Amino acid sequence: MTCVTKVGIDDFVLLDEITLDKFLENLSRRFRAGLIYTYIGEVCVSVNPYRTLNIYEQDFINKYKDRELFENPAHIFAIADHAHRCMKQRGQDSCVVISGESGSGKTEASKIIMKYIAAVTNLAGRQEIERVKNILIQSNTILESFGNAKTTRNDNSSRFGKYMDINFDFKGDPIGGHVNNYLLEKSRVIMQQPGERNFHSFYQALAACNEEDLKRLSLRNDPFGYNYTKYGGVASMPDDRSQYRATVSACKILGFSTQEIETLWNVVGAILHLGNVTFTTEEDEVKIIDTNSMNKTADLLQVNAEELKRTLCERVIAARGEIMQKSHTLIEAEFGKNALAKAIYDKLFTWIVSKVNSAIDPQLTTNIRSKGTVIGVLDIYGFEIFDRNSFEQFCINYCNEKLQQLFIELVLKQEQEEYKQEGIEWQTVEFFNNQIICDLVERPHQGVLAIMDEACLNVGKITDEMLLDAMDKKLNSHQHYSSRQLKPLDKQMVHKTEFRIKHYAGDVVYNINGFLDKNRDTLFQDFKRLLYSSHAPVISNMWPEGALDITMTTKRPLTAGTLFKNSMIALVKTLSSKVPYYVRCIKPNEEKSPASLDEERVSHQIRYLGLLENVRVRRAGFAHRQTYDRFLKRYKMISKFTWPNFTAGTVKDGTQVLIEEKGFKNDVKYGKTKIFIRSPTTLFALEKMREDLI
Ligand code: ADP
Ligand code: MG
Repeated sequence: MTCVTKVGIDDFVLLDEITLDKFLENLSRRFRAGLIYTYIGEVCVSVNPYRTLNIYEQDFINKYKDRELFENPAHIFAIADHAHRCMKQRGQDSCVVISGESGSGKTEASKIIMKYIAAVTNLAGRQEIERVKNILIQSNTILESFGNAKTTRNDNSSRFGKYMDINFDFKGDPIGGHVNNYLLEKSRVIMQQPGERNFHSFYQALAACNEEDLKRLSLRNDPFGYNYTKYGGVASMPDDRSQYRATVSACKILGFSTQEIETLWNVVGAILHLGNVTFTTEEDEVKIIDTNSMNKTADLLQVNAEELKRTLCERVIAARGEIMQKSHTLIEAEFGKNALAKAIYDKLFTWIVSKVNSAIDPQLTTNIRSKGTVIGVLDIYGFEIFDRNSFEQFCINYCNEKLQQLFIELVLKQEQEEYKQEGIEWQTVEFFNNQIICDLVERPHQGVLAIMDEACLNVGKITDEMLLDAMDKKLNSHQHYSSRQLKPLDKQMVHKTEFRIKHYAGDVVYNINGFLDKNRDTLFQDFKRLLYSSHAPVISNMWPEGALDITMTTKRPLTAGTLFKNSMIALVKTLSSKVPYYVRCIKPNEEKSPASLDEERVSHQIRYLGLLENVRVRRAGFAHRQTYDRFLKRYKMISKFTWPNFTAGTVKDGTQVLIEEKGFKNDVKYGKTKIFIRSPTTLFALEKMREDLI
């Protein structure tokens, strides 16, 4: 047994001093030695190695199966095993929350966890379970093709949040699952930053355009020839074509029909062609210049070309019972076209997720769902601070505030609660509670989201700058909010169109331009009717709202911000009903290099992940706690008083006798149901004694 790995310490609670420097030193020594995992109690800190490590194969799986955390060197397998065992033995739902910034290794971590769980379940090889496991893994391939993109920070960056439940039967074998997706970054469909790409799917279609099954899309393998794939200046990547094949094959495994797979790529092709539709004005009327692209788009979406042309250039409005045509301005036409591209892709993605779900939903495969348990895995965008931050970063950072709040609630508070419950004395640890920032964003009537929604009600009358004014007025006294207009002497430059939020992870300056449009997220009704009329059933079904007659007044749809807030609240509720496990991912450097750990960058992440506070809370208390029966079961062999069985009292008495005999009396406290061991060396000593006897 190896409790202490040779390099540094395996658990940050063993640090002799809890300082950023010591934390960093341990992390970086271990990273250089290829030890990427370190615990803080039951939290697993992971540093992206940026190289393939041979620590995920079968021998490692065997080593971690059915073992306690402290029995082996720190590893993410131990967390997965813990979650799985807790679920299996105690019938409790659990979840693994994986957080960290883009490129820190969250998605890899979630795949490693799924792989581990797949490997340790159903060794008897029941076919149905093999099928479910295969589907769970294949679903990643599809979701990544349509939801991931190359960014400057990560070549395969997830541009959506994902929460995946894996359902288990009473024996602990997987019987299905469910995926929830959060806020796809759809602005990427029409525009990419330098060095970045659109979603992988577009390049896959381009790279494979000469294959028999894609010829109908009439594409050329030239990403720079399409407006929607050219902005970042990055063309294809070497495996786009093979990824196309992998995606199609995954679709087949998940039971997509041939027709559905066809429609899926038709939509991707249609968006590429749509991007090349350009407009001009003639006698105050908008006209389409490139009718070829327009016709191809209509063809692939299976809608009437004349109708598409009309909806791109004008819209129908109902005013005082009369129906009128109103020609777009050039700006409106461009805006409408881009909104259409984004909306189609977003719907396509949602549809893909629902297809994945119908393939893995346990209700379809078995009817014992109600008796089963669940392990959830959350892989969601980390905190983002860019040079220019917009509505998307605002939502993502709000999401991270919510998760931090949950972390505080569950790990920090719960820890303190446990001591209280067990009747153990405890010194309160101070930590920053970010509830105040969650309030700043989500408070009814007063929060940023509410102010934004109010502004969105006034269609056409309110500008982004007026929204900023309204925010300034309501939020100026909030200590986590500031803007140039209010605090001009602030040392950080904030322009007139910017506001700043002091997040728990650092200050972020947001540019207000585009907030209203993105929050309102409107698509002209005409487009919805057009898509509903598509002859492709898949497309038509995606747009049920297009069935409404023009004269029917529709309820104002919820804004993007409010929808996001609601989905976050639901997510937090789901997570808090489960036993949580945490994986905190750290990105060692910006160069994707396996050899360097940038101390400044890493310090920043340690700080905003709240890791030092986490160690402090753990340390202020006890390194290890265990229920008396489990403790005695494990160590009874080392004492003649307890071996083979302790009969002179309760399990608590037995534990006490053993501890006193071995001379650890001063390092432990006895709670109501658990023993608390202060220093890890005591635990190691106990383990050593046990090992010597085996
Ligand atoms: P995130 O989801 O946090 O944005 P990813 O999980 O996509 O980051 O990781 C980015 C890249 O880093 C991966 O594509 C992979 O090359 C590398 N990587 C991350 N974790 C590991 C790991 N455990 N082992 C090897 N490479 C890794
Ligand atoms: Mg990811």
